[in-house]
Amino acid sequence: MAVATGLQERIEAVRASVACAAERAGRGADAVTLVAVTKTVDRSVVDEAYALGLRHFAENRVQAAAAKFARPLPPEATLHLVGQLQTNKVRPATTLFSIVESVDRASLVDALEKEGARAGRVMPILLQINVAGERQKAGCSPDAAPTLLAHALSCPHLAVRGLMTIAPLVDDPEETRHVFRGLRELRDRLMRHDGRVELGILSMGMSNDFHVAIEEGATHVRIGRAVFAG
Ligand SMILES: *Cc1c(COP(=O)(O)O)cnc(C)c1O
Repeated sequence: MAVATGLQERIEAVRASVACAAERAGRGADAVTLVAVTKTVDRSVVDEAYALGLRHFAENRVQAAAAKFARPLPPEATLHLVGQLQTNKVRPATTLFSIVESVDRASLVDALEKEGARAGRVMPILLQINVAGERQKAGCSPDAAPTLLAHALSCPHLAVRGLMTIAPLVDDPEETRHVFRGLRELRDRLMRHDGRVELGILSMGMSNDFHVAIEEGATHVRIGRAVFAG
């Protein structure tokens, strides 16, 4: 049996699984964006992944990302912040990242809006939702989401693009299906509630469970280990 060990082979394997899951869900493979989470690898590996065709990258810490991406990515690449953001790091975060996926509280909305106004820039964001209600995890509760969304929509320097969630880590990814379905249903409710809001992005699914997330409607999957752990 051939064992895939190289970065190129792992990227191809992940792409194939993404395409399969999308097909099972009756969606095209291009309906799902592969976001490579690069927090465990250094810049040379990111550049290698870029050379192999990946265009979307994510980090979970502002300071580590600032060092890694001191030399910016090519303009067609995007860099996503997927970890908790402290309000005192909002300025470096908004200059470095293309989108902040982890907006989970009003104080962070306010800080991002203030910085956007100062810099004269509109920052794309996702609202991070703690669907499973895990106590130790970041994210706004589903019940509080309508209020947080209304608050973010009132900010002229923020563009709310959708929702993000992190599912509990479990052995059987099927156990997380209700979490992903919950995020999609919340998105649908929020859009019904306010017909003008377009929450096109559902960022959900990681290495262990992305196929389930895609079946439940993920538009963006955040993959670290499956691509980079060789
Ligand atoms: C690390 C990380 C990922 C990627 O996780 P893997 O299990 O390595 O695929 C996705 N999302 C967030 C928020 C992360 O911190």
